[in-house]
Amino acid sequence: MIKVQNAALTYQSPEGEVEALRNVSFAMEEGAFYSIVGPSGCGKSTLLGAIAGLEQLSGGAIYLDGEEIRGPNPKIGLMPQSDQLFGWKTIRDNVLLGLQVRRENTPERRAHAEELLHRYGLAEFADKRPSQLSGGMRQRCSLIRTLVPQPRILLLDEPFSALDYQTRLAVSADVYEILRREHMTALLVTHDISEAISMSDRVVVLSGRPAVVKNIHDLGELRKLSPMERRDTEEFHTFFNTIWKELEIHG
Ligand code: ADP
Ligand code: MG
Repeated sequence: MIKVQNAALTYQSPEGEVEALRNVSFAMEEGAFYSIVGPSGCGKSTLLGAIAGLEQLSGGAIYLDGEEIRGPNPKIGLMPQSDQLFGWKTIRDNVLLGLQVRRENTPERRAHAEELLHRYGLAEFADKRPSQLSGGMRQRCSLIRTLVPQPRILLLDEPFSALDYQTRLAVSADVYEILRREHMTALLVTHDISEAISMSDRVVVLSGRPAVVKNIHDLGELRKLSPMERRDTEEFHTFFNTIWKELEIHG
């Protein structure tokens, strides 16, 4: 469904050229959950930006359903690092924002938004402001906002990094459940190896900058378990150690 083919991207800046991506290739099937891990500054956000159509490649191509991605596309949802909810708007209006921006504010889409608010326990907060919600609930609201325009794929760029450790465990499990239930194809960028192994079907390991794909791990049997259950298994630690060594971020 998503195909990244020899993607290359070099930034031109006043200080000179920065080669962020070199020959990055991988493909994702519909309904799959992939994670991308790599050292800080290697080009993870750049890659996600390119898939979202926000960054122009200097070589190669990225396809969605066989069509080359050349700019922003409503079929591609992006969940930001912080929840980016508007404090003066109600939860309902925040959730509907994606529709207003894209001029897709049809009765059907609005009904779908109400359905999602209801399904995920936000209906009773619909008329409240974000400050009246817990961090976890705000993150859930942010996720639902990205789901309302019905994207084909959801991109998540370190969406839990602003949360403390305990909250991160709970929110990542929550997001996992929602994405599974909605049968979303998802691509998560994270610097947290545990998070990648606990949530995804496959983990793509990137090298240091310029990013190239070092390895793609199929998590196999772990896929059948929830994020919390995975963390209790021996396979979890085996994958962790393997990926940790590949990342070469130590010593
Ligand atoms: P990551 O998300 O893996 O931490 P990024 O994709 O944000 O890394 O950045 C990769 C490299 O590209 C870094 O060296 C960063 O400084 C550089 N970079 C990112 N955006 C720009 C830009 N707009 N102009 C110039 N260099 C950039
Ligand atoms: Mg980044």
